[in-house]
Amino acid sequence: MANVFQEKILTVHHWTEKLFSFTTTRDPSFRFLNGQFTMIGIEVEGKPLMRAYSMVSANYEETLEFLSIKVPDGPLTSRLKDIQPGDTLLVNSKAVGTLILQNVLPGKHLYLLSTGTGMAPFMSIIKDPETYERFEKVILVHGTRQVGELAYDDFLRRELPNNEFFGEQVRNQLIYYPTVTRESYEHQGRITDLIEAGKLEADIGLPAINKDDDRVMICGSPEMLRDLKNMFEARGWDEGNMSTPGHFLIERAFVEK
Ligand SMILES: Cc1cc2nc3c(=O)[nH]c(=O)nc-3n(C[C@H](O)[C@H](O)[C@H](O)COP(=O)(O)OP(=O)(O)OC[C@H]3O[C@@H](n4cnc5c(N)ncnc54)[C@H](O)[C@@H]3O)c2cc1C
Repeated sequence: MANVFQEKILTVHHWTEKLFSFTTTRDPSFRFLNGQFTMIGIEVEGKPLMRAYSMVSANYEETLEFLSIKVPDGPLTSRLKDIQPGDTLLVNSKAVGTLILQNVLPGKHLYLLSTGTGMAPFMSIIKDPETYERFEKVILVHGTRQVGELAYDDFLRRELPNNEFFGEQVRNQLIYYPTVTRESYEHQGRITDLIEAGKLEADIGLPAINKDDDRVMICGSPEMLRDLKNMFEARGWDEGNMSTPGHFLIERAFVEK
């Protein structure tokens, strides 16, 4: 039976006026696989108001971390955006989700394709040493509209490569590829366009994405998921799920209401 933990907010970081992240205490009995999500929320008028959130923190970390959008009239996030250290966060004990290593077939390169808060589940996957044991190269692609929305950019460029336990694997195997659509930046354009044009692979010096060597996990807007799913299915790739591993996996970063 799932139950709901009451965790304490430890830190809050506002990246932009639309994006923030926060860390909380973690009940030691909360178990999850890197890449999964759970329901989190706050109590409003005596009732829990919960939404699906991916864990940014890896499953071996002592605290939990989440990356959140701020929807101006969103029932949860219009309130959650004001949380402060010491406040209570409700966390459902049951974690679920398809974006886990066991759901992809073996391969050489693992592409993690995300837009917006869709990069959250991939943060826990790239902090998992098993990811680097299973794949020669791990490519984290994060698409945003603006440069300021590239959450964790500094952590990915400076901190993670110096991690005392697996920094060497990160330095040798992780390729971070941020791309921005509405401002000028070192990489620009939509992820689907970059792959269709072969530009992503050319930029990072890897062969064109192919079914024999490459595996893909996708997390982003409904539109991005649809476009990429159509693209990979047209190339004859099979989507994986909890019962059958596949060439690619998808998870929605949010639901359009
Ligand atoms: C599997 C899954 C995992 C999720 N993981 C995260 C996560 O890690 N971080 C996170 O911020 N949200 C995540 N979400 C979305 C989250 O569950 C809520 O929708 C979000 O927190 C907004 O809640 P709300 O009550 O304020 O507004 P809601 O009523 O839930 O949403 C209102 C509208 O806001 C837009 N919206 C909602 N979430 C987002 C988003 N993340 N990015 C862009 N637009 C959005 C949509 O148009 C939606 O119709 C996830 C959703 C799913 C299905």
